[in-house]
Amino acid sequence: MTQKITRQLYDQIMVPCYAPAPYIPVKGKGSRVWDQNGKEYIDFAAGIAVSALGHCHPDVVAALTEQANKIWHISNGLTSEPALLLAQKLINLTFAERVFFANSGAEANEAAFKLARRYAYDHFDAEKHQIISCYNSFHGRTLFTVTVGGQEKYQQGFAPLPGGIDYIHFNDIASLEAAVTDKTCAVVIEPVQGEGGVMPATKAFLEAARRLCNQHNALLIFDEVQTGVGRTGTFYTYMHYGIEPDVLTTAKGLGAGFPISAMLTKDKFAQSFSVGVHGTTYGGNPLACSVAEKVVELISQPGVLEGVAERHQWMKEGLERINQQYDLFDEVRGMGLLLGAVLKPAYQDRAKEFVTQGAKEGVILLVAGGSVLRFAPSLIIEKADIDEGLSRLAKVAEALAAH
Ligand SMILES: *Cc1c(COP(=O)(O)O)cnc(C)c1O
Repeated sequence: MTQKITRQLYDQIMVPCYAPAPYIPVKGKGSRVWDQNGKEYIDFAAGIAVSALGHCHPDVVAALTEQANKIWHISNGLTSEPALLLAQKLINLTFAERVFFANSGAEANEAAFKLARRYAYDHFDAEKHQIISCYNSFHGRTLFTVTVGGQEKYQQGFAPLPGGIDYIHFNDIASLEAAVTDKTCAVVIEPVQGEGGVMPATKAFLEAARRLCNQHNALLIFDEVQTGVGRTGTFYTYMHYGIEPDVLTTAKGLGAGFPISAMLTKDKFAQSFSVGVHGTTYGGNPLACSVAEKVVELISQPGVLEGVAERHQWMKEGLERINQQYDLFDEVRGMGLLLGAVLKPAYQDRAKEFVTQGAKEGVILLVAGGSVLRFAPSLIIEKADIDEGLSRLAKVAEALAAH
């Protein structure tokens, strides 16, 4: 007997930790998605800054299919050609000399935080274990990463939490200077806070973090899970600032829809993860690495990165036009194709209503906190799709402005 799959079924059988939209997407192509009833949506969310090449990019489908007919999984008792090819590509493109693969942003960060602790333990002493993070940051949902993340609401009810973690205010150099000491093993920063409201770091803040980490032998970790792989118009966002981290984590866009993440670092830090110290079953899986290798190859082409800057301009101008008409936003901020439109006080905490209304008008929207609309479309979204998505967004604005 075949069962009819409906959205109601979700409420009956799934752990209720999400509140998915009323429709179920069944097909995607480029920046357009269709639901079970054939209704079409413009995708301005890309699966939360993940589907960097849109849906079902033919070259990526080909890479996945080719590998699917060769070998899927072997564990880390063996290595694979796709893993080595991808690692080499990431090293060629970045500051990194060593790569560790995992499956999600949280796991890449977990590896980064463990590496920082272990490096301090190997070279200094066990007392040097403090991790400094920023309020309003987001680093994942495992117990360690959710504790490092500076948002109390995500930690509530999970105590006892891991210790040795302290918080400073993002872009506040004085509080960073006061916090970093010889007991610090790592400072972790998102170059643009994503979940925290699309807030770019100042260059001076990242420079201060670099200087203080050097001074106190602490690792500077950039969480580029959301900002990486071309999202902001350079391959990694640290390249905009010209400030290199010691460890960089990357996930969302890396597989462009296939789960994979990586921690990139220098050789001298990597040595603290000697055989048996850390690991994962799936990390470096050949299917995931084949996909990511193709994604990295496509996105690292200069044309694609230049295209991100151009699309930033189109999106930003379009949002400002809508704002002129409906008076919704205090500002439109962000870099590349990670944009945040900050709702005016009249729309305080109503960002989710835009998402809900967007579903009706046929545009997939995203929030970053209660009062910021976040835009993170495919890096190669067509101009026509941007225009159509913006005109649907204008209808959303019109519907909500009436109330
Ligand atoms: C999404 C995100 C994470 C967590 O990634 P998961 O794949 O959900 O574990 C960590 N850090 C940042 C900056 C993110 O945006």
